Amino acid sequence: MLNIDNLHASINERDILKGLSLDVKPGEVHAIMGPNGAGKSTLGNILSGRDGYEVSQGSVTFEGQDLLALEPEERAAAGVFLAFQYPVEIPGVNNTYFLRSALNAQRRARGEEELDSMQFLKRVREKLAVLHLDDRLLHRGVNEGFSGGEKKRNEIFQLAVLEPKLAILDETDSGLDIDALKNVADGVNALRSPDRAFIVITHYQRLLDYIRPDVVHVLADGRIVQSGGPELALQLEEKGYAWVKDRVAPGA
Ligand code: ADP
Ligand code: MG
Ligand code: MG
Repeated sequence: MLNIDNLHASINERDILKGLSLDVKPGEVHAIMGPNGAGKSTLGNILSGRDGYEVSQGSVTFEGQDLLALEPEERAAAGVFLAFQYPVEIPGVNNTYFLRSALNAQRRARGEEELDSMQFLKRVREKLAVLHLDDRLLHRGVNEGFSGGEKKRNEIFQLAVLEPKLAILDETDSGLDIDALKNVADGVNALRSPDRAFIVITHYQRLLDYIRPDVVHVLADGRIVQSGGPELALQLEEKGYAWVKDRVAPGA
């Protein structure tokens, strides 16, 4: 589904990604862990098409398409979803209206019919039920006055409604208390499916107690320096990132 090969990228002439490779298949959940400043958010931002990054080498292919050649809206239409580490607030814009516009923009770009309000409402109700959310969320402004936990829950709700093939969650756990964390994890688990993949970026292991990944990668100094099963996350928790940082050749 997603193939990242030898990706090198910089921002403001500073090299951040230094030969990152990653393969993700449909249905898989990959966790990307790593110390602060390793380049985790940079990877997520580049995949979603954020401005400001210069890719100097390597490739990113999504279902056979050159992802980096696509505009952010085209990536969304192709089925890539990125939940931001700090979700934006759009005061005054009703959450339901926002979601329906986003969904229908994607459908138009795919040459699919737009959902009318009845069809959209039906989908929204289904997703609220799957995620055990109540519909108060719908009538508020996008993230307006939401608590940290509500914002994250709203991201998962957006994800559910948009039904992406690949969802990238960047530090969806940051700043959450344990109940909010479990809520987010339950949401992700409810949305796992054989044709949907997740990349879960996280600094801490605790989210992975609830979302069990198929593969755990350690990103350090712009590269994946180690990959393994869920047990790798536990080892990191115990030994800290210095343990893997030592494996990165100095000056490499
Ligand atoms: P992580 O998410 O793993 O903590 P980031 O991808 O956010 O790391 O950042 C990787 C490195 O890139 C950090 O050293 C950070 O300071 C640097 N960086 C991020 N954004 C910019 C920017 N706009 N200009 C210069 N350096 C940046
Ligand atoms: Mg590869
Ligand atoms: Mg980050």
